[in-house]
Amino acid sequence: MRHLILILGDQLDRHSSVFDGFDSNQDCIWMAEVATESTKVWTHKARIVVFLSAMRHFAESLRAEGMRVDYRKLEDLENAGNFVAELTATLKRLKPQRLIIVEPGEWQVREDFRRTAEALGLPLEMREDRHFLASHADFEKHVKGRKQLRMEFFYREMRVKHQVLMDEGKPVGGEWNFDSENRKSFAKQGPPLHAAPRRFLPDAISREVMDLVEQRFAKHPGRLADFDWPLTAQDAQLALSDFIENRLTDFGDYQDAMWTREPWLFHSRLSVVINLKLLDPRVVIAAAEKAYRTGSAPLAAVEGFIRQILGWREYVRAIYWRFMPDYLSLNSLDAHQPLPSFYWTGETDMNCLREAIGQTLQYGHAHHIQRLMVTGLFSLLLGVKPQEVHEWYLAMYVDAVEWVELPNTLGMSQHGDGGIMASKPYIASGKYIQRMSNYCTGCRFDPAKSTGPDACPFTTLYWDFLMRHETRLKMNQRMSMQVRNVTRLTETEKAAISEQAESIRHSLT
Ligand SMILES: Cc1cc2nc3c(=O)[nH]c(=O)nc-3n(C[C@H](O)[C@H](O)[C@H](O)COP(=O)(O)OP(=O)(O)OC[C@H]3O[C@@H](n4cnc5c(N)ncnc54)[C@H](O)[C@@H]3O)c2cc1C
Ligand code: SF4
Repeated sequence: MRHLILILGDQLDRHSSVFDGFDSNQDCIWMAEVATESTKVWTHKARIVVFLSAMRHFAESLRAEGMRVDYRKLEDLENAGNFVAELTATLKRLKPQRLIIVEPGEWQVREDFRRTAEALGLPLEMREDRHFLASHADFEKHVKGRKQLRMEFFYREMRVKHQVLMDEGKPVGGEWNFDSENRKSFAKQGPPLHAAPRRFLPDAISREVMDLVEQRFAKHPGRLADFDWPLTAQDAQLALSDFIENRLTDFGDYQDAMWTREPWLFHSRLSVVINLKLLDPRVVIAAAEKAYRTGSAPLAAVEGFIRQILGWREYVRAIYWRFMPDYLSLNSLDAHQPLPSFYWTGETDMNCLREAIGQTLQYGHAHHIQRLMVTGLFSLLLGVKPQEVHEWYLAMYVDAVEWVELPNTLGMSQHGDGGIMASKPYIASGKYIQRMSNYCTGCRFDPAKSTGPDACPFTTLYWDFLMRHETRLKMNQRMSMQVRNVTRLTETEKAAISEQAESIRHSLT
């Protein structure tokens, strides 16, 4: 055998550089389902099914093209259970002259493959992942000479470089960012009428994997009853068209809004297929831009959506690779509280958390503002160790791969990186959740109160956070207004808030 081509569960890209020069007569593809990928964090059942079923579909499609695929199923008796042992056994059996892989999406996995090849004295060719629009070299060029990194400036460069929403060298509509027109909340009666997202009900391959997961990972969190994720390139395309036709128009207006038992609202649900590499981000961006150019979606919605993919998604990946492996252990706010156990069950009387976590257990998904301003906000205000929060997000979301999950969690949401990702901690009291959702109606707590038996824990912990980190936050101009409000509290009020916050922390330990 000439080349053994290694394809991991989030590398299901038929246009990937690993296929460059592939010769069916001399080369073979290697794919392996290993248990450690589902157990190193206590992974949601739906996330396990997403990866295994999508891999099995991809392997089938390669075989249908006449490629040889050496595929190790999870249930195979000889399965060694982890990448290193599996690959080592395969190399001894197939004896290839060279290994080819695209850079994995996790720093540790990349190291493991490097070390395994080195130990066996085999050349390993690690090719660039051209799924992404920014290479590591592009980001290094961007970083050079800058004292501070901010997504907005990187995003503008990406718009120019890839000529997205640009007319004659200028941003379409004269502005780079239309956020001021976006981010509305719903009126009292709730979200406007909208079509439910297209569903992709499990086929025979997925059903087989679901049975396997129910048996093998019976005690893992999450449920599979509503599993309907697209898992092939064809279905990914259908999911994209469904979003562009039915939800893109209102995406901008309501991207930060939340509503009870409305898990999808106007979001795309595309992160899963994009992260598996079944859908090219260029195709998504082009479809959104076309919707604007043909008059079927407003500029503010289209720009807001494109910014998430061309801006945030590329930016977080760049941050991950630039700052790993040290990034994983950062804890700039010195937070050490354990993650409350209700994160794994949804059993809490805080309505917003019960909704966001309940939905996460049901689907393996919650939309951005639920992740950032409900589950993320609570653990930040409580002072949970960012590494524990990271493990929860990595375990619970069907779209979670470390390169994208870690900077979003440890950086954007927990401010554990001290400001590499975001210039200030995203903090708010329960009043923000009240403004952006209907969760507080029917909750036993009152978002306006910071002390007393019906005080909203978010509001108590918000003031407590400002007091605990006052010295540090004072130095941050963007926080000055919030910090100034603390000085308006009397010493008695401050003491009562600290005491109530301490009792919340104590009860959740
Ligand atoms: C604490 C936390 C953890 C997160 N973990 C993940 C994760 O593991 N995997 C993941 O893909 N996203 C993650 N995100 C970002 C975001 O929440 C999800 O991408 C989004 O909710 C996916 O749903 P959607 O496809 O309907 O997105 P939409 O709201 O429709 O957005 C469109 C697309 O933009 C991209 N996108 C949007 N925001 C981000 C972002 N902040 N970073 C990277 N890409 C973005 C996604 O590809 C998404 O599909 C996280 C955010 C937070 C605050
Ligand atoms: S009152 Fe507080 S805990 Fe209850 S839903 Fe509102 S923000 Fe959440």
